[in-house]
Amino acid sequence: MTFLEVKDLHVSIDGKEILSGLNLSVEKGEVHAIMGPNGSGKSTLANAILGHPKYSVDSGDILVKGETIIKMPTDQRARKGLFLGFQYPTEISGVGYSHFLRNAYNTLNKSLSEQQNREVFLTVREFHEYVKKNLDAVGLDPSFLSRYLNEGFSGGEKKRSEVMQMLVLKPNIAILDEPDSGLDIDAIKAVAEAINKLIETGAGIIVITHYARILRYLAKLDHVHVVAKGKVIKSGVKELSEELEAKGYGWLGIEDDK
Ligand code: ADP
Ligand code: MG
Repeated sequence: MTFLEVKDLHVSIDGKEILSGLNLSVEKGEVHAIMGPNGSGKSTLANAILGHPKYSVDSGDILVKGETIIKMPTDQRARKGLFLGFQYPTEISGVGYSHFLRNAYNTLNKSLSEQQNREVFLTVREFHEYVKKNLDAVGLDPSFLSRYLNEGFSGGEKKRSEVMQMLVLKPNIAILDEPDSGLDIDAIKAVAEAINKLIETGAGIIVITHYARILRYLAKLDHVHVVAKGKVIKSGVKELSEELEAKGYGWLGIEDDK
């Protein structure tokens, strides 16, 4: 049974249909890229999977290990091991990074502890050591731990920080919404390196992106899907992303509004 299955999903926002019968299956350990023009519904898919209240599922289903999750609130979906890295991570002043992560870790640990590879940290110091190791893995300084969540982080730091949270929380399926958006080429490489660490954890990974660039630096890429007008219109392997980069979205008869 596939870990995450999206079946004939129809999603609307304020009565307007955005996803029109989208299908996707992601297994743990697989790396998928979802590409598509702006406005095609990529972020809508990510938000619908995590249960953002603004997005209403009109028909179809989202299943985790065969169990429907569409009626579950977001925290319950997170407890199934789903994690969404935001396209635009919000700065939350007053919320300490370390405090936030430790709470998230402990809450998740209670739900996912039956699965292997989840350490129990009894002291704050033990947890800090664990987080520091992961900060190091994504090239962020330990001083980030004593800052407020995302406050004053550069674009690239915010994206690496999202991946770092994933390394700490060890989701079964990690969705990264445009981890490359707004970054220069060096920052994109650094984020890709961080994602490569995540690949090593054996998570299923969905990288949403407009461009093939970041995909070139990934240690592994199993499937590439092109979304247009709320549907997957073509699936393939890595070469498909390169073909898109070379020929543009017009090649598939779809508009790119950028
Ligand atoms: P992508 O991530 O592929 O660029 P989105 O999923 O963000 O696309 O958006 C798909 C469509 O949904 C677009 O036409 C967009 O304008 C519309 N949309 C997205 N978010 C909202 C919202 N909060 N309210 C109304 N329309 C929205
Ligand atoms: Mg988007």
